[in-house]
Formats: sequence, structure tokens, C-alpha cells
Amino acid sequence: MDLASAQAALKKYFGYDNFRPMQAEIIQSIFDQKDALVLMPTGGGKSICYQIPAVTMPGVCVVVSPLISLMKDQVEGLRANGIKASFLNSSLSNEEQQEVENEFFNGFIDLLYVSPEKLVSQSFLPLLKRTKINLFAIDEAHCISSWGHDFRPEYSKMKFLKNEFKDVPIVALTATADKITRRDIVKQLELREPEVFLSSFDRPNLSLEVRPGQKRLEQIVQFIKQRPRQSGIIYCLSRKSTEQLSSKLNGKGIPADFYHAGMSDAARASVQEDFINDNSSIICATVAFGMGIDKSNVRWVIHYNLPKNIESYYQEIGRAGRDGVKSDTLLFYSYSDIQVYKDILTKNESDQTEIKLAKLERMKQYAESLLCRRRILLNYFSENLQENCGNCDICRNPPQYFDGTVIAQKALSAVYRLRQSVGVSLVIDVLRGSGKREIYDRGLQHIKTYGAGRDIPYSEWQNYMGQLLSMGYLEIAHDQKNVVKLTEASNRVLFENEQVELVKMATVKERLEVDKKRAQSKPKRQRVRDELFEVLRKLRKSLAQERGIPPYRVFSDATLEEMAAQKPRTDEQMRQISGVGDRKLHLFGDFFMDSIREFTKGDSPEEKLSTYDQTLELLAQKFSIADIAEKRGLNETTIFSHLAILYERGEQVDISSYVSAKEIGQILNALQYLEEPFKLKSIHEYFDGMMNYNKIRLALAHYNKAKQDLENA
Ligand code: ADP
Ligand code: ZN
Repeated sequence: MDLASAQAALKKYFGYDNFRPMQAEIIQSIFDQKDALVLMPTGGGKSICYQIPAVTMPGVCVVVSPLISLMKDQVEGLRANGIKASFLNSSLSNEEQQEVENEFFNGFIDLLYVSPEKLVSQSFLPLLKRTKINLFAIDEAHCISSWGHDFRPEYSKMKFLKNEFKDVPIVALTATADKITRRDIVKQLELREPEVFLSSFDRPNLSLEVRPGQKRLEQIVQFIKQRPRQSGIIYCLSRKSTEQLSSKLNGKGIPADFYHAGMSDAARASVQEDFINDNSSIICATVAFGMGIDKSNVRWVIHYNLPKNIESYYQEIGRAGRDGVKSDTLLFYSYSDIQVYKDILTKNESDQTEIKLAKLERMKQYAESLLCRRRILLNYFSENLQENCGNCDICRNPPQYFDGTVIAQKALSAVYRLRQSVGVSLVIDVLRGSGKREIYDRGLQHIKTYGAGRDIPYSEWQNYMGQLLSMGYLEIAHDQKNVVKLTEASNRVLFENEQVELVKMATVKERLEVDKKRAQSKPKRQRVRDELFEVLRKLRKSLAQERGIPPYRVFSDATLEEMAAQKPRTDEQMRQISGVGDRKLHLFGDFFMDSIREFTKGDSPEEKLSTYDQTLELLAQKFSIADIAEKRGLNETTIFSHLAILYERGEQVDISSYVSAKEIGQILNALQYLEEPFKLKSIHEYFDGMMNYNKIRLALAHYNKAKQDLENA
């Protein structure tokens, strides 16, 4: 096998023109029958590395994956690209398993996904032995290591692969990179001189931003309003806070669901389904959400609270932008989060406590840092970025220093006069001359620095105190109710006139203003593109709904964006779009090209009428569906689907002669009983095949139109 055939397969099945860094090398090594260990971040494109060999080499590729919930989805994704794949795990009935085993044995498929349990079961080995296997791909390979964070006992039984199948290459893939786990994978699978492919863990399409955690709700509302219709996740610390935040957002007119482990399985599954299918776009969740889902078009992730360590943070923001399209991440940082964690950690002492505290400290340093955030992140994963990234808040808005000596002096002397016996917030209250009860009760209004910092708002003081803490001019005694203490360095400021440089903080208000300006300043061309993207997104949604698959399986956001920019109108042009392979061009190409023609109709007068409008004209002339089909050389089903689309679009077309009000009632009534209510086939089956597909299509158009009218009312 050679790389040219791999490249051709990449275009044919996936519609991509080029391999990403490493993919070609990995595939070449598999072609050379060598074992390999592949380390790539989530979204890096690991699966292509075994899928391309699977479709180009003779025989079947066996993929071992522990994520049973994902298998079906992955296999459907492959099938949508015209690749023959199946899966075997405990979710299938015996009969179904039998069927898949037959396909496998007879070589009718190119890829077989199996659970580790199935792979190591006694009955499966003979079947493996009798089949021509071209590659074993071990996904999530870190599960083999008891050092890793996700150990699966069945994985450790997979040694037998190398013994039983000496000539079949094994590729092990993971997104977890630490060295011990890496060595363990090689050892346990008994890989033979494997080539190790370690790709960069950078995710340049994710923007990074940290903001002080004040007025979070207001900031989140604005953030979301600037990103209409985008899918996003807000991670919260507790179950209760997911519920509270979602209800507050709903109160502000922003629909948001919540998700946490305390809910019933059914409730969780339904929240997840809605999110995957773009029926809902915002989820307030605990960190468990997002683990088993493959949705590639999550456009943003917000951390309402500081994560416990950098590993978790990176994993959680990594759930955004798996399609490679620009996505935003925002972390709220407040000192009190640190306090909460520290309290919990020190209360439940264990031998892990010290490590956990150290990891928390690194997380805090990241949040407080005034250097390019991506450099710090990658550095944490032992990777050096040579230049600033340009896509984090620090790079975009470099910190502006000013002489903060007077501010520092005021703060330190307040701490001094308060006898180093109160917490941060009370120090600020004193500086601001607050009239709080506690101040008067303790007689603090007589202290010399009382009110000395009245001119600076509370939130800014919080920030300066944070800077003084991280520069070591102050410290917090965690063992003494978190009171603020002076340090050696404080003395130099108080008594030796040491200069202190502080960073000017944009206040929340200024920040919100900047955001607003940024949103307004989009050039016209971009706005038009956004509009077309919206049109295509809607089309994608309805095509997905009809087929009972998630929208991102029709085309990814990246592909839609490219369509919106390039506006392809012929098969040839469509084929140039990244993500449009043969099968999808055949299935969906015309729908999208029609929409694009329709959208650009005004642009060039010679553009011919869209296919819908041609049908509309003929309908207006009272031709029957059969006549129109004949005139246009299309089949009747196509004309019915035009009719449905025209009706949904609000055109004056009559559907009542093709589907009666009673039938519409029956069809809509059926929806509530179906697991996949908008899938044409499910509805068809519900009526035992007695309800014509065209009627179903029109009834759904009726439903969608009514729903739209309601939303617009
Ligand atoms: P991983 O398994 O590493 O998390 P995936 O294999 O799911 O990542 O790939 C992530 C996304 O990148 C998918 O949408 C995939 O189609 C896309 N992708 C992979 N390889 C390429 C490529 N060579 N060109 C364009 N897109 C690619
Ligand atoms: Zn940066």
C-alpha cells in the first residue's frame, strides 16, 4: 500500500484534501506492518490514522474501545461516509451479534468496533482466528495502565493479541500523555519496537480567557448574547449551582438546561440527546457532562468556578471545538474558590492531599498569570511554545503596568494596623471606609487607614490584593482562618520605599464595553457569511432530524463555514469543500447547493431560479405533482419534498390536497410515542408502512411551520 491510495481514500470517504501533521507518518508505519503508539490531544484526528488503513488494506480492522456509548455513534458516522463498519458489544441482542459476526467473518465490513470484554471473551478468539485481520487499533489505550486515571481490567488481558497474531500490526492510541502510562501501554500490549508518535497537545483553535469572578451572571449573559445559537457548556462546582444558574439564565430569556449526577438516568439522557441534536444549545453541568459524547460543534466552554487542576481544566475546555473551528473558553477566577478547595482538601487529609494542593497551586498560578496562557498550559504538559499565542486574553490585551506603590502601601499598612488578624474582604472594607456592622462592632472605623482607599471600587481592590498576594507582598494563613499576614517583602514596601508595579485591571464594565465593540465591528462580508451559515445550519438540522442522526454527522461546522464562504454551486465546486466526500455529496449535495443558490439569487441576475422556485412557479400554474415531476425530470418524492420546504418557508402553497387535517393529526399524535420522533422511517414504521412518506413529510412541515409561527409571535 502507498500513501497515494491513502490520500485518495481520505478525499473519497472524508472529503479532506490533506492529512494533518503525523497522520500520514502513522498510516505509513501501519502500511509497513509496524506497531505504533499514538499520542494526540482530543480532536487531533486519531481515528483517521486507523480508519484509512482499514479501508485501503485487504481484510478487516478491529478497533477496541471501552466507550460503549460512543460505538454506535462512531459506526454511524463511518456509515454516513460510505464506510462499511459495525460494532459488537453487550448492548446488542444475541441475534444481532450473530449477524455482525457473520459480516465480520465474511469480510463484508472494513472496520469492526468491539468492547474489550468481547475481545477477550473465549468465544471470540476462534472467530478472530478465522478472519483476515489487517490491524488492531486499541483506542483509549491508557485504560491498560493501572497508573492511568481510567484503568480497565479487561484491557490488561489483551496481551494475547501479539502472541496469537504475530503478523498483525497493533496501533495504540490515547490522549493521555504521561510517561509512565506510555511505557505501560507498550509493555502490556507487548508491542514490538513500536514507533511512538507524540503530537503537539496544543489546540490553537481554542481561545483562552480568564476573568475575575465578579458579576458572573451579567458577564455570562453578555457572552451568550454575542454568540447566538452556538452550543456551549457552563461547568459549575455543585449540583445545586447547575440548577440555580440554569434557572437564572432562563429568567433572563436564555434557555439553558442543567445536568448532574443526581438526576435520573432518563432525565440525563434526554438532556444529553437534546444537546447532541442541537435542540438545546446551553447546558449548565457538573464536570461529568461531555465525557461520553462526540459532539464536534461545541463552540464554547465556560468555567463558572476554578477547576481543581490543570489536567481537568484542559480536558474540560477540550470538549469545545473538536471540529477545529474557532471556539472560546472562559474561566472565572475568584479567590474564594481556592479557599473552598483548600478547606475541603485539608479537612479530608490523605496521602494525596499534598499533591492535590500543589496541583491547585499550579491552577491558581495559571489563572493569575500575566504571561501568555497557552505557553503556561503547554509548559505544564512539558511542551515549549516558542512564541506568544495571540489567541489568549493576555496576548490580545497585554497587561499595562503602573506604579502601584501607593496602593500597595495603603493595603499593607491596613493589614498592619488590623494586626494581621482579619481576612481579605474585611481589609478591603476598612480601606473603602465601609459602614458595615462588623466594622463598628469591632471599632475598626478608628483605624488610621480607614477609608484611605475609598476612591477604588471593591472589585478592583480584590484584584490588587490578589496581585499583592501572588507577588508575595502578602500571604494568607490558611491554618488561622485565612487571615492576611505581612511578609519580609511587605517590610521593604512599608519601611524602605520599595516600588511596586501593579497591573491595571479593566473593570468588568470596561470589559463588557470592549466585548460589545468587538461584536459590532464585524465587516459586512462576514455578516453575510454568518447569515448563509445560519441558513445552512437550519437545513442541516432538518436533514438530520429526518434521518435520526445528530446534525454534526451531516456536515461539521467547519464544512458549513467553508460552504458559506465559498458558496459552491456545482458538484465540482462542492467536492472542493473540506468534509464533502463522495457519499455525502451524493446524499446531501443538492440540498445544500439549492440553498446556496437560493441565498445568492440576488447577487447575480443571470443565476437561474432555484429548484424550489421552479417547482413553486409550476405549482402556482396549478400543475399536479405528477406533471411537475415529469416536466422537471425529477421524481415525485423530490417534488413532495420541495412542497414541504416551500410550505415551511411560508409560501402560498396548498398541502391539504395531499394530506388531510385528520392525517396530520394522526401523524403528529404519533410523535409522542416514538423514540426518534422526527425520523421519517420511525413514523412510517409506526403506521406499519400504511402512511405514505410524502404525507409524513408534509405533516412534519406543518408542524415545523406552526412551531416557527409560534416562536415568531
Ligand atoms: P480524536 O479521535 O483524536 O479525538 P477525531 O479523529 O475524532 O479526533 O477527529 C477530530 C475531527 O477532526 C473530526 O471532525 C475529523 O473528521 C477531523 N479531521 C481528522 N483528520 C482530518 C484531516 N486530515 N483534515 C481535516 N479534518 C480532519
Ligand atoms: Zn497567548
